[in-house]
Amino acid sequence: MIIVLFGKPGAGKGTQAPLLSAALGVPTLATGDELRAAIRAGTTLGLEAKAFMDRGDLVPDAVILGIIKQALSEPRTAKGVILDGVIRTVPQAAGLNTVCADLGKIVDAVLCFEIDDDEIVRRLASRTICETCQTPFTAREPGATCDLDGGTLVRRKDDEPDAIRNRLAVYQTQTAPVLQWYRDHGTNVAVIDAVGAVDDVTSRALRALGK
Ligand code: AMP
Repeated sequence: MIIVLFGKPGAGKGTQAPLLSAALGVPTLATGDELRAAIRAGTTLGLEAKAFMDRGDLVPDAVILGIIKQALSEPRTAKGVILDGVIRTVPQAAGLNTVCADLGKIVDAVLCFEIDDDEIVRRLASRTICETCQTPFTAREPGATCDLDGGTLVRRKDDEPDAIRNRLAVYQTQTAPVLQWYRDHGTNVAVIDAVGAVDDVTSRALRALGK
């Protein structure tokens, strides 16, 4: 079961991914989390990605496809994976389909979390994430403690107003066309209302998957 979580930055993909993972029994892959971990570890991958990420620009497709290929060949994803913010350009979507075809797999569904820009700016301006496990929180100040692993909550550099504006523009030009690409290629695309209580959004997503 390969599920692509899609939507603007701040739509709630990172909040929904672990909940859907628990409900469906498949792990998650978030390229944003992988890249932030690489930056913290000071790897070549992290060094290459950092400047793009700080500006709110997309990291090159070849880097992302490398992460996808590696993750899909690991035993932990044998039963499937929930891809959180992993597919953000048409070449990435096409590349994922090729990797899947080589492994005898297909993308089962794309869940697009729908939300308007005003709500995004409000959400991201008040977002912090755990420095270690990267769980996102709303309305919790930097320096507070993560409920899950006791890590320190920090603000993301790309949640500053200028970077948020750039990320929304990048979404419109480079990421939004991916949805039509999936429709044109016969993949099941479900649009989910992402506004409301977290549990309600999870229920809507599961219903869209027939669960
Ligand atoms: P996220 O945590 O999903 O909001 O991602 C944070 C940043 O990581 C993005 O703004 C991009 O700079 C980079 N990134 C994450 N996933 C991708 C991807 N699939 N394609 C290109 N850049 C990505």
